[in-house]
Amino acid sequence: MDLYRPERAAELSRVLEVETDHPVIARGGGRAYGDAALLDGGRGVIARRLDRILAFDASTGDVVVEPGISFADMIEIFLPRGWMVPVSPGTGFATIGGAVACDVHGKNHDRRGSFGDHVAWIDLVDAAGSERRISPHDDPVLFAATIGGMGLTGIIARIGFRLVPVAGAAIEVRHQPVRDLDAHLAALFASRETHAYSVGWIDALATGSALGRGIVELAQEPIDAVPPNRPRPQRVPIDAPGFIMNRHTIRLFNRFYAARIGPGGRTRCEHVGAFLYPLDALHDWNRIYGRRGFHQFQCVVPDSEAPRAMRQLLETIAAAGRASFLAVLKTLGSSGRGMMSFAMRGATLALDFPNAPGAIDFVRRLNRIARDHGGRVYLAKDSTLEADDFRAMYPEIPRFESVLERIDPTRRFCSGLSRRLAIRHAGVRS
Ligand SMILES: Cc1cc2nc3c(=O)[nH]c(=O)nc-3n(C[C@H](O)[C@H](O)[C@H](O)COP(=O)(O)OP(=O)(O)OC[C@H]3O[C@@H](n4cnc5c(N)ncnc54)[C@H](O)[C@@H]3O)c2cc1C
Repeated sequence: MDLYRPERAAELSRVLEVETDHPVIARGGGRAYGDAALLDGGRGVIARRLDRILAFDASTGDVVVEPGISFADMIEIFLPRGWMVPVSPGTGFATIGGAVACDVHGKNHDRRGSFGDHVAWIDLVDAAGSERRISPHDDPVLFAATIGGMGLTGIIARIGFRLVPVAGAAIEVRHQPVRDLDAHLAALFASRETHAYSVGWIDALATGSALGRGIVELAQEPIDAVPPNRPRPQRVPIDAPGFIMNRHTIRLFNRFYAARIGPGGRTRCEHVGAFLYPLDALHDWNRIYGRRGFHQFQCVVPDSEAPRAMRQLLETIAAAGRASFLAVLKTLGSSGRGMMSFAMRGATLALDFPNAPGAIDFVRRLNRIARDHGGRVYLAKDSTLEADDFRAMYPEIPRFESVLERIDPTRRFCSGLSRRLAIRHAGVRS
């Protein structure tokens, strides 16, 4: 893949106007886990240097940014001024453009929805290099295809959205141990009404009566207090040898994680950034999985299916002994605005699996369990989904494809993900 890294938004059109037979995909911080921002034999347009804040209205929180600005930059600039991005994914290295394209969710989905819910308008550079402003009023269909559209409608050049006011940079987090899956889900479902933020960490190797045990973290909105300093990020210096990641080391890690909290739980004050982006404290953490890497699985299933589906998923994972140390359980509040948005009202589970022999087939088994329970897999995290499962999970795909036919008739925008999922290759049904 050839890479372009424009310095100015105006260059986006120029990149698209030359050699029009080359396929193109935009790339932000490169934090999607799979092939969403990869394109063999094509062009990647890295938006990271388009990171300017173009306007800010301190009376409303309305902000206009270029797509390459990261969440970490937004926190650093706006938190001291009493404003925050309403929805943050779990890493500050993601960009706002990537957040629109994946319609990301955070630990506060029940309260604030997905990122796209806060977007007023988008400037989009289309396949011909023309720029157009789209919003729920101006070309609402293209707007709905672009939110969560995985970069396939064009390159996002500017975004107008609204920040939320916050009292300070500290957040008080309650860490509560939960003994099993029922208790875990009950705590998360109850927190929808009582807390702004909630997330559960599951020990995915626990079996039997301990299946689904873990720690639930609950928090309200940030407060005006002096937060503890964020520790200097550490870095994983080398690719760890493959044998490091096995069920024994993972079990040890999970025990250690639970022991930190203690049986009665604890409440402590954290910096908002540390709470939102815990993995950013360990740069290059992916190297722990060694050169072979890992696959991530994240699905959401509707509320009514959550107890059964999560049990089946966790039993399958524990029985295979394939779990990772980062199993995350969250609730989501409602569907996103995009045709390809991941969110639905339900519960979502995310885990990593070392890329050992059989890992892809194993994750595909999990994909199918999610499908069978009326759920879907998150495209930003996916590297294994197959086209037929994808179509069953995302019923609006024919509508999405017909928008692509209109906006990009020569099929300029594509990615490893769109090829793998046969988006626009399985026959367009408008
Ligand atoms: C540690 C970690 C934690 C995460 N936690 C969460 C989470 O809690 N919730 C969540 O929703 N996601 C989460 N993610 C996934 C991540 O938020 C998304 O993949 C996000 O899109 C990454 O942004 P990016 O800028 O790195 O995009 P990239 O990975 O570079 O690209 C992702 C997609 O966005 C498109 N894109 C990027 N920039 C543009 C642009 N300017 N115009 C058009 N399309 C564009 C790309 O084409 C691609 O399809 C997490 C990822 C990591 C690594």
